[in-house]
Amino acid sequence: MQERPIDNNYLDFINRLSDSLQSHGLTTAYIRTYGCQLNLSDSEKIKGILQSVGIEPTDNELEADIVVINTCAVRHTAETRVFGHIGRLKDRFTKHKDKLLMIGGCMVQQPHIVKQIAASYPFVGILFSTNNLSALPNLILTRLMTGRMTFDSYPDSYEIDESIPLSREKTYRALIPIMYGCNNYCTYCSVPFVRGPERSRNSRDISREFNLAIEDGFKEIMLLGQNVNSYRNNINDETNNFAELLNELCSNPSDYRVRFMTSHPKDAGIPLFETIGAHHQISRTIHLPLQSGSDNILSAMNRKYTSAKYLERINEARAIIPAVNFTSDIIIGFPGETEADFNATLELVRTVKFYSLFIFIYSKREGTKAALLEDDTPYQVKVRRLMELTEIQNEISLEYDRALIGSEQKAIATNQKDESQTELRLDNNSVITVDGLHRVGDFHIVIPTAIENRRLIGEIKQ
Ligand code: SF4
Repeated sequence: MQERPIDNNYLDFINRLSDSLQSHGLTTAYIRTYGCQLNLSDSEKIKGILQSVGIEPTDNELEADIVVINTCAVRHTAETRVFGHIGRLKDRFTKHKDKLLMIGGCMVQQPHIVKQIAASYPFVGILFSTNNLSALPNLILTRLMTGRMTFDSYPDSYEIDESIPLSREKTYRALIPIMYGCNNYCTYCSVPFVRGPERSRNSRDISREFNLAIEDGFKEIMLLGQNVNSYRNNINDETNNFAELLNELCSNPSDYRVRFMTSHPKDAGIPLFETIGAHHQISRTIHLPLQSGSDNILSAMNRKYTSAKYLERINEARAIIPAVNFTSDIIIGFPGETEADFNATLELVRTVKFYSLFIFIYSKREGTKAALLEDDTPYQVKVRRLMELTEIQNEISLEYDRALIGSEQKAIATNQKDESQTELRLDNNSVITVDGLHRVGDFHIVIPTAIENRRLIGEIKQ
């Protein structure tokens, strides 16, 4: 567990809470995270808070005294899965009132969801905000003292608390948020409502955490934010931007790889591309969400760029960073998307040639501007478009993989697959399988030798 400085008052309070948890027989917690990497990062803090009061993490949900569900509100399907999960816990938490079920994250930032849980799931103990995790210990104590459902869904303040303890997953990758919230208000997206306004961490706090993670043996650092390109460190009159932050972090001379997510095309530009080009530690694969190739749809989405501007960004990056790759997100079936709009997306995808795409069917989110528009594309049409785009993208991805055969690539061992094989990740994030067991987190030079079932097979260069 990575320790951060905590003050004495907080320590006193934590000791009281720890005693109370023990006297209630609560000693283990299972945390289930839905959604994005930022949610995973929040869960590492939830785990850190629980460990700081004597609660041990467990992978066994059925045996855990405390179950924490960290939710996602980005798509309707994620919400449905969360409600299914909560529903499955009904019998257990209704019968065993001594156990504790806590629901946090983006879903419970929405008043209609809070009302629904309060009305239909009375066995839930705590609804908490991941925007204000410092309040979590207090909420737990309140719940233990009153036995009532306890809420903190809408924080009064969005201040960043650097004192929250953190318990990282023991993998090759450390997740480091550099900023929270978003000011962009894309019309389909609930993030600005559930995550609050954009706010950046102090670069000194980020640097400290970055260097500590490398010291702790993490080989890949993922910098997180809803729009990392609008990172602004304006604390104590320091005014560095994301490119400068990357420069500062990459002054660490160890062997590691830096990734970041997510970039907004309107804010990514030449200073960022030059910085990536200047540091071999920064991944040459940039995730730059496109969402649509149609200017009409981009405007309706409030994305603040045109397809031509997007392509200009790609070309700028390709001119500056040798061997740069792009991945992207596409939304299919946004309200009003015509066949011509969809064809414009296909055309841009063929022109850019992304390494890979995350393709989503449009999902109406309550409270967003797009939710007021008629969701007018029949579901079958959305599915057909999704399949058409997927097929085109699969061919492009395959072309990239074929071009790798016989080349030498740096890769991190990420998973011992079975008794005799190891999976590694290349810079473009694709997985390559090699024979033999290799320690997770070590870098190797690999040579892709074949593609089987769309996956790279290779060997480690001796
Ligand atoms: S940039 Fe747009 S899509 Fe991304 S989090 Fe902000 S509002 Fe949502």
